Amino acid sequence: PVLFSIQDVCKDYPDGNVRALDHVSFNIHDGEYVAIMGPSGSGKSTLLSILGTLDRPTSGAISFEGKAIDSSTDLDALRSKSIGFVFQSFYLLPTLTALENIQVPMFGRGMTGAERIEKAKLLIEAVGMSERSKHLPKQLSVGQRQRIAIARSLANDPRLLLADEPTGNLDTVTANGILELFANLHDELKMTLVTVTHSEEVAGAAQRVLRMRDGKIESDSAQVAGV
Ligand code: ADP
Ligand code: ADP
Repeated sequence: PVLFSIQDVCKDYPDGNVRALDHVSFNIHDGEYVAIMGPSGSGKSTLLSILGTLDRPTSGAISFEGKAIDSSTDLDALRSKSIGFVFQSFYLLPTLTALENIQVPMFGRGMTGAERIEKAKLLIEAVGMSERSKHLPKQLSVGQRQRIAIARSLANDPRLLLADEPTGNLDTVTANGILELFANLHDELKMTLVTVTHSEEVAGAAQRVLRMRDGKIESDSAQVAGV
């Protein structure tokens, strides 16, 4: 089934008179692992913001699980319930331990402290960081912090996980660890993943590659394969 549908979407930035997305249409299916590639300025970040409902299209239609996302949609609810973000700029809280950071999105959702801790322990194990539960972010390596940020992004069981250059500033070994983690999320948890990347290695790990140029989808490996 289609999880996220984008139909004929344009995004204009009045500043500088830029059309960042130019009649973009595609569907993301439940459980897909999609990499978005393309040169700087081709519209990747804009597309990711629209998928994350952080930004609205200028024209065109988007829907999530068959429901139109429009001005009547409760975006906060949709985001906190269904969409996880791994953006490089989403830092961990420095005074909280790794395990506590993972619990942050669980607050205000009617869970008891014990339930939050239990869930956070499962997530920290899933990202291979159980031994670092009590560490503060500054006591962790960059790659380990990224793992904790990924665990945190999974705290509310999102249907869709969006990542912006998840391996961007990591060394090769650490980057490969994150790629393995994504592969596990995809294979074992059937997570739908969409990642913006410059890395051919990340793209190679994904199931489907969308290449963008000048605000358009230049190629979609799913269409070549006839999926
Ligand atoms: P933004 O959309 O924020 O302007 P880009 O998506 O162009 O940034 O780039 C994201 C990151 O990837 C930046 O740190 C940039 O330096 C780096 N980058 C850009 N182009 C390439 C490339 N061809 N190969 C590897 N890294 C790149
Ligand atoms: P990418 O992520 O592929 O580097 P972006 O989606 O960041 O591309 O940008 C697409 C185009 O939109 C670029 O020409 C960029 O300069 C422009 N753009 C992005 N954000 C804004 C903004 N807030 N205001 C004006 N122009 C923008």
